[in-house]
Amino acid sequence: ITPRSFEKVKDRFEEIFRKEEIEVIINPLGRVLTEEEMKELVKDLDGLIVGIDPVTSEVLKNANKLKVISKYGVGVDNIDLEESKRRNIVVTNTPGVNSNAVAELTVGLIINVLRKINLSDKKTRGGNWNRFIGNELSEKTLGVIGTGSIGKRVVELLRGFNLRVLCFDKYPDYEWASREKIFYVTLQELLEKSDVITIHVPLTNETYHMISERELNMLKRNAVIINTSRGGIIDEEALYKFLKEGRILGAGLDVFENEPPINSPLLKLDNVVVTSHIGAHTEEAVINMARIAVENLVLALKG
Ligand code: NAD
Repeated sequence: ITPRSFEKVKDRFEEIFRKEEIEVIINPLGRVLTEEEMKELVKDLDGLIVGIDPVTSEVLKNANKLKVISKYGVGVDNIDLEESKRRNIVVTNTPGVNSNAVAELTVGLIINVLRKINLSDKKTRGGNWNRFIGNELSEKTLGVIGTGSIGKRVVELLRGFNLRVLCFDKYPDYEWASREKIFYVTLQELLEKSDVITIHVPLTNETYHMISERELNMLKRNAVIINTSRGGIIDEEALYKFLKEGRILGAGLDVFENEPPINSPLLKLDNVVVTSHIGAHTEEAVINMARIAVENLVLALKG
């Protein structure tokens, strides 16, 4: 079991592990593991509950006994699915259970960027009483890229702001859209018309750098972009340029192409609010993710 937050809830599952005669090894380093560390760890495992640690083909080469990779979360972009399939390893995830947690963080980041909460906090603590002028969210246009579980929950949570909502998804859910009285448009139209854009697609070959220089050029000057999905979806170099030059208003980022983003120039900008990939890290979501990840693991191990 690699995810650090699992540690907090592991006692709840002792009974199940004992009953199923599963010997549990908890990630001893208490942080996201490297590929080398994963290669060592998987050697004798039958099952793996994994967070965002890399499960590459190199790692899987060492996993001779592995029968199941139970993802503790939704995004399986850290797992080589093809290689897993080739080795008959079952891959499961925990869809839906962390959607509310990620959606609530998304709402928090939107307001934070618009009202410069982090900057005001920093300045106030530093003795600099600067009363910033921010922007309101009400009555604006919200663009939602990816209307799966999280994207839909964001729309639901923001209902009270009377937003005009534009959506883009590879597989639109027209029934939901007509019920919600919102529209699917092309990615270009969404980018051109939205004041706040929020990203909720998985990271795949298709979505890698889905938002790069060309797309950023389509945004309004007052646009805010929020990414609580995966770092690789936005080209960070291009984003930095646009933010630095004031060609967009701001960004809220929970995820980065390299985590932690130690040397990222984005961290130096005042119009960016950053968090440490904490989207799913609420007590409520952690308990639910752990429960389902354990259930998936046990079911798959039993075949
Ligand atoms: P989901 O599968 O319910 O929804 C994803 C949506 O993206 C689907 O509607 C799908 O049709 C759409 N999509 C897929 N490929 C696309 C493409 N190429 N172009 C346009 N649309 C495309 O997933 P979800 O539960 O809403 O989660 C979305 C993502 O959020 C996850 O894949 C994960 O990477 C990320 N996530 C981040 C955190 C965090 O801690 N910040 C936590 C959970 C999930």
